[in-house]
Amino acid sequence: MDLSVVVPVYNEEENLEPLIHEIRSVLDPLGKRYELILVDDGSTDGTYGVLSRLHEAEPRLKVLRFKRNFGQTAAVAAGLAYAQGEVIVAMDGDGQNDPKDIPALLEKLEEGFDLVSGWRSPRRDPFWSRRLPSRIANGLISWMTQVKLHDYGCTLKAIRREVAKDLKLYGEMHRFIPAIAFERGARIAEIKVHHRPRRWGRSKYGIARTFRVILDLLTVKFLLSYATRPLHIFGLVGLISGALGFLIAVYLTIGKIFYQLDIGGRPLLLLAVLLIVIGFQFVTMGLLGEMLARTYPESQDKPIYVIKEILDEGKPA
Ligand code: UDP
Ligand code: MG
Repeated sequence: MDLSVVVPVYNEEENLEPLIHEIRSVLDPLGKRYELILVDDGSTDGTYGVLSRLHEAEPRLKVLRFKRNFGQTAAVAAGLAYAQGEVIVAMDGDGQNDPKDIPALLEKLEEGFDLVSGWRSPRRDPFWSRRLPSRIANGLISWMTQVKLHDYGCTLKAIRREVAKDLKLYGEMHRFIPAIAFERGARIAEIKVHHRPRRWGRSKYGIARTFRVILDLLTVKFLLSYATRPLHIFGLVGLISGALGFLIAVYLTIGKIFYQLDIGGRPLLLLAVLLIVIGFQFVTMGLLGEMLARTYPESQDKPIYVIKEILDEGKPA
């Protein structure tokens, strides 16, 4: 299998048929052996019905159906895990990504990259609710991680199999795939891709997503930089805090002993005590972190989704 196209879908019944038709008309001329993996993320509309009907006519269309809505990240993760292709392309199921960009992504990959990410330009989304928050989030992510991209939110990507199989995704981390892959040593590139307005159905996200992205960014930053050495970050904060508290305490003690100052009511005393206690706590937390860092990776070996049905004659369910 040369190519797997993974599409997460949640209540996209009207968008599926045109999209799949479009993808096929782009891929067929390439002469590659490919499969389409549609992951139905617990849709409550006719999505599964449409997919199973399309699957009847086209066995290369494989369908994974979740038991409930697990979220886009889980849907992408399930698709990546199931994919058999040497190269895996991920894209949105609402038709906002243009399948005609797939050959360009593949070409760029051939230049020697492991992951090529799309950059939606110009972006066809509302300004205040979408493009502005997305600008801010992109700036933050690019500042905090080592991968400098313009558009982390673009689902359209091409990823080499080894890299895709190596990803562990949680929360809403599909947008950190490039950052996570980079940490594993992948070479990353970005190319401009088309973006289209949504034709049917509604966007599944609101403004609340911005906050979740920022929190996820913290997790990713922490995991990428300190997961294997938590004491380095917690310990550093703890030492600085403890040292500051100690200095203030020394200053107060000198005043008390040599100048007979009354330090009992001074706010500085409270601060010194606080800083010393916090310092101890941070160091201890870092040590606990070190213990977790030794058990965490192995204990996490379970998927973040539950599959209900699989339509694919090739593999036993
Ligand atoms: N999606 C999903 N599960 C969810 C939410 C979204 O599989 O819980 C899919 C959705 O069907 C679409 C893609 O993820 O194919 C992107 O979602 P959407 O278009 O709503 O995001 P936007 O383009 O507004 O950022
Ligand atoms: Mg969309």
